Amino acid sequence: MSQDFLKDLALLSDWMEHYRENIKNYPVMSQAQPNDLLKKLPLSPPLESQPFEKTFAEFQEKILPGITHWQHPKFFAYFPSNSSPPSVLAEMLIATLGVQGMSWITSPAATELEIRMMEWLREAFGLSSDFSGLIQDSASASTMTAMIVARERATDFTVNEQGMSGQNLVAYCSVEAHSSIEKAAKMIGLGRKNLRLVPVNENLEMRTDLLEEYIEADIAQGLKPFFVVGAFGTTSTTAVDNLDQIAVLAQKYRLWFHVDAAYAGSALILPEMRGLAQSIDAADSIVVNPHKWLMTTFDCSAFFIKDKNSLIRSFSILPEYLKTSGDTEEVVNFRDWGPGLGRRFRSLKLYFVLQSYGIAGLQKILRRHIHLSQKLESWIAADKRFEICAKRNFNLVCFRLKSTDQANADLLHKLNSSGRMFLSHTKIKGQYVIRLVVGQTDVQELDIREAWDEILSAAF
Ligand SMILES: *Cc1c(COP(=O)(O)O)cnc(C)c1O
Repeated sequence: MSQDFLKDLALLSDWMEHYRENIKNYPVMSQAQPNDLLKKLPLSPPLESQPFEKTFAEFQEKILPGITHWQHPKFFAYFPSNSSPPSVLAEMLIATLGVQGMSWITSPAATELEIRMMEWLREAFGLSSDFSGLIQDSASASTMTAMIVARERATDFTVNEQGMSGQNLVAYCSVEAHSSIEKAAKMIGLGRKNLRLVPVNENLEMRTDLLEEYIEADIAQGLKPFFVVGAFGTTSTTAVDNLDQIAVLAQKYRLWFHVDAAYAGSALILPEMRGLAQSIDAADSIVVNPHKWLMTTFDCSAFFIKDKNSLIRSFSILPEYLKTSGDTEEVVNFRDWGPGLGRRFRSLKLYFVLQSYGIAGLQKILRRHIHLSQKLESWIAADKRFEICAKRNFNLVCFRLKSTDQANADLLHKLNSSGRMFLSHTKIKGQYVIRLVVGQTDVQELDIREAWDEILSAAF
């Protein structure tokens, strides 16, 4: 490596360490106004080479103010997108190697590490060894993949050949299910109208009695139910659908059963949480995002599927220029397992994270998050001016001031623009509700105490 590269690397690593140490001094939510950065950037690219110091100085001066600090311990919005030191180091190696792991032959270790990491995760989550796995960029891609394999299996692989016309397929999820399912329905040519949104009960879980009614009504109409999604942790409130009952209906009506555990699936590393996921092994496919709550930098979405032969039959295409001497039964070519051809070497991140923390280390972090969210929930519940608005299954607390929607929206805005914390909101039964997720890798009890004090002083 050249002297320049070493010097630049040192500059960067000093900055990275300083950032990690001082992250609490940054406003959590970027205070940038629209077009702030666009106004500062030249309209055209430089013709001549620029020194790294200059580019890096401009990164700090112009770009950093437009960054929201997802790794700030008081990032409580949406769901976390956790980073961690081993994951950062792995990302640097991944970029250094610059591997494109589409086929086994393009880097045997990239494929084989991915196979073994998915087996490690499968065991860590307590899932059946009937599942095979691969890493995708997002839960959205994983769910779409599941829907395509289900479509092909339900139509004896004719849609891939002849298109969707005349198939009359219908799919099901709850009204609380993630928008990625609707997006997949659109992308695969199913059509949004052929995705039934089943109503939910008091706890925002799918009404499986109504699921069965919907299925029966569709069959009576001559339609062909083929796919159902159960949520293990919805995005709005982390509600958990009754996977037991969905599994029974999926079997009765021969539907593909997909479990969307994108966020909360990481909690399956805790044996005490697995009671919530009974029958998850009855699923045909499951998606869990380690890039949310398992200290693995975005992107890393774990997709588990039982019928890998149908998966490969749905996706494999082999033009002459991709044929390799490695195309034997002996090796896996992940290019045939999903929508993309090129593949990042994401398994290295999982390897570094799992080696560095061990399962016990990760369990400790998730238990801390859940414990802290319990504490916060108890403080909020004890204050008569607030109410808890949804059952807390994991580390998300949904609450509101006992006041108008406007008062709650104002409170959220005030807290977010203070830069002291970042919260998001949802609607539950038509009411504006504040969401607070205690899930950043390093969040400690002090952060939660400070946050509660700040919420109180902003509110009253
Ligand atoms: C975050 C989330 C998704 C989407 O995840 P991406 O990886 O961003 O596509 C899907 N389902 C649930 C339940 C989620 O929480």
